[in-house]
Parts: sequence; C-alpha cells; structure tokens
Amino acid sequence: MKKILYLLLFVPFFGLSQSTEPSNADAVFIKKLSDEILTNGKAYDLLYELTKKVGGRIAGSPAMYKAEAWGVHTFEQLGAPSVSKQACQVPRWVRGSGDYANITSIDGKKQVRALDVLALGNSLGDGKKVEATLLAVQNFEELEKRKDEVKGKIVYFNNSFDATIVKTFEAYGKAGQYRRNGASQAAKYGAVGCIIRSLTSSTANDPHTGGMAYNDSFPKIPAQAVGPRDADYLWSLAKKSSAVKISMATHGKFLPDTTGHNIIAEIKGSQFPDEIITIGGHLDSWDVNEGAHDDGAGVVHTMEVMRALRAVGYQPKHTIRFVLFANEENGLRGGSAYAAAAKEKNEKHIFALESDEGGFTPRGFSFTAAPEKIAAAKRWLPLLKPYGTSSMDDVGGGADIGPLHRTFNTPLCGFLPDSQRYFDVHHARSDVFENVNKRELLLGAVNIAGLIYLVDTYGF
Ligand SMILES: [Zn+2]
Repeated sequence: MKKILYLLLFVPFFGLSQSTEPSNADAVFIKKLSDEILTNGKAYDLLYELTKKVGGRIAGSPAMYKAEAWGVHTFEQLGAPSVSKQACQVPRWVRGSGDYANITSIDGKKQVRALDVLALGNSLGDGKKVEATLLAVQNFEELEKRKDEVKGKIVYFNNSFDATIVKTFEAYGKAGQYRRNGASQAAKYGAVGCIIRSLTSSTANDPHTGGMAYNDSFPKIPAQAVGPRDADYLWSLAKKSSAVKISMATHGKFLPDTTGHNIIAEIKGSQFPDEIITIGGHLDSWDVNEGAHDDGAGVVHTMEVMRALRAVGYQPKHTIRFVLFANEENGLRGGSAYAAAAKEKNEKHIFALESDEGGFTPRGFSFTAAPEKIAAAKRWLPLLKPYGTSSMDDVGGGADIGPLHRTFNTPLCGFLPDSQRYFDVHHARSDVFENVNKRELLLGAVNIAGLIYLVDTYGF
C-alpha cells in the first residue's frame, strides 16, 4: 500500500522530468531551425511591409482592415495549411487633430511655451480650450494630501519611472497607474485637465501615449502625456513658481464599435490534434507610430516561427495556432474573443506564448504556470542557451493570452527580449521600423521556435 502511494506520488513528476531531459537530437533540430531563420528568415522584410505599407493600425481604423488583409495574405504566402478570421467587436477611438498644451504665464507674467504632448488613448476632448493653473504632484499620495487645492486646476503627475528597477516592465507596471487612472483621480477632486509624465526612462522629449480609462463617476477631463524633458521643465517650474498657467485642448472621441478580427493560421497536430498550442502577438498598434516593436515584432515572430517550422518539414504532434490578435492596446477584445470562442467549442489549450515585449536581443521567457512545470521547462535551458535564452522565470505571459489562462488555467509564456531600450519607443512616435535590428529580431524568432518545438515534443 505504502509502495503504491509512493509510486502514485512520484511517478508523474518523475515522468515529466525524464521526458523533458534534453537530447542531442533536440539540439540538432533546434540548430536546424536556427540556421533556417538566420539565413532565410522573412521576419524583417515582413516587418517592413507591416510598418511601412500598412503603418499605424489602431483598432477600428481603415489601417486595421489593411493589416488584417495583409495578415491573411501573408500567412497564405508563407504556406499556412489553413488561415481564418475570427470576428470581434472593437472600439474605435479617434484622436482627432489639433491637440496641444502650452504654458501661457508664469507668476502672472505672460510667457508662452509649447509642450510636446500626446493625448492618452481613449481620452475624450471636445477641442475646447481649458486654461487653468497647474497643480504639480509627485504621486497619488501627494494628490490626496493636497486634494483641497485641486478644484479648477490642471493636475500634473510627475510619476517617476523607477530607475532602480532593472526589469523595466516592472517600472512600467508601477508607473502605469498614473496613465490609466490619473485623470479620474484628479477629476474626483475637481481638476479640469490632467497631464502625466510619459512612461519612459528615455531622455528624448518624445511623449508616450497609451490606454487610459475614465471612472464614470467623475467628469471626463482631457488627459495628455508630456515628453520627459518638458516634464522635467514643468516640475522644476512648479517647484519655484507660485502660479503656472497652462492651456490645453484635446479632440479624442469614440465612434461606434466596429468588427475587427483575430487572424489565425493553424497547423493540425498529427498525434494530439485536439490539444492546442497558441503563439501570437497583437496586430493593432497606436496611431502615432508604426507599431514596429509594439507589436509588429510579435506579429512577425509569430509568422516567422510558422514559416520556419514548415520550411524544415516539421510536423507538430499538437495543433499549433499562430494568432495575430486584434485590439490589444485599447480594449483587449481580440484576446477575449479568442478565449470565449475556445470555451464555446470546448477546446483544450495546453500552452500559450505571446511575443509583445519588442524585437530586441532574446534573453529568456517568463511563465505563469505551476512551479513544477516551470522547473521541468528549465531543463531545456541548455538547448536554448546558444541562441540567447538564459532565464526562465515566473511570472509572465501576455495581455492577449491572459483570458486563456483565466478561462482554462492554460500555462502562459511571455517571450523576454532585452528590455532596456523598449520604453524608449513604446507608444511613442519613435516606434518605427528603423529602430528594429534585423539580427535581434530573427534571434527572437529562433528562441521562440525552439521553445515551441520543445513544448510540442514533450508537452508542458
Ligand atoms: Zn503591445
């Protein structure tokens, strides 16, 4: 009895650890994939097409439809066995034109200086000039302390992007609350406008947009992000002046929702056709740039992995889906629709990987999965190390595959490239093709393809 119990307890783990032991055949196959991608890889050329011929492609825009058509056509050209479009309703936020924020006077003296700003995504504005005195605060705690001073002011949040945090996505995560909720927090105490410091560690004066949401209980005031150098200037000015006047206007509005699509290519599994591995990136981008790193890189990684697996004649055991998700940036409707459809069809999703952290030099992967599964996956590290993967951590995944985890508890994986330069360009005008390096982009695809091969071979 004891012996049986012992076996029951340890066989599954023993089995897993045995089956994930890297073999020489795996190393040879991953080298083959790598050689294919580094010599014949199409990811960089595809990124050129997506960024230069389609360009910025915010959900609901004409460019979104162009990107969808490009996605279908390109998957077909690359030899996808099947390609489909999965419909979902997407929001249609339009920035409009003529947004501005200017300093108009300092301590009662007229002094005009234009600030480099971008309205936050989803923010509303009727284009009317809002002119008010600035109230500059470092964070929500200071806003709370000074809430009696807020009424009728334009609140500036000097939210810092914590330089001491080496993993820049963590610094982004912490500062992100000011972009998402700053306007409503300020409006709660009567502010008439809101400006936040751009979420970046860069010193270039480029402002960085990104999604925000209003709390319906408070007035929907205009909300903008200001470039880092102008942010420094505003902050120092606010410290030494008793009254800084700002005038600002934004023109954002929502048109009725429209139908967008996830673009899905699929290779059917030979042994476990009903068990699905998903790999994807998001097809939409912000409207002010070409969405090259965010997330053109993830889109072409996804396409390149499919192409390379086909090119080397790989027949997966599990069904692999290659998904270009709709509307990650300001609604997550694509990822939600993908999980909802999977639930409706009672599908079995065994693993999902997203590439949405840029096209920089690969460093590793991060997982949201049971600790023993991550521990087992770490046995694959020696196989991927020659191509740049040096770490496998928790906790990670991707926004678009998050709903799969919430629906099925599917293990998630996020591709982790070097993150030090990502927030220089993220959601800024500078997220363009020219800022992506071909070699780094292709190496990303090598590591993702290698991991997907291992997951398919050994399960996860
Ligand atoms: Zn993204």
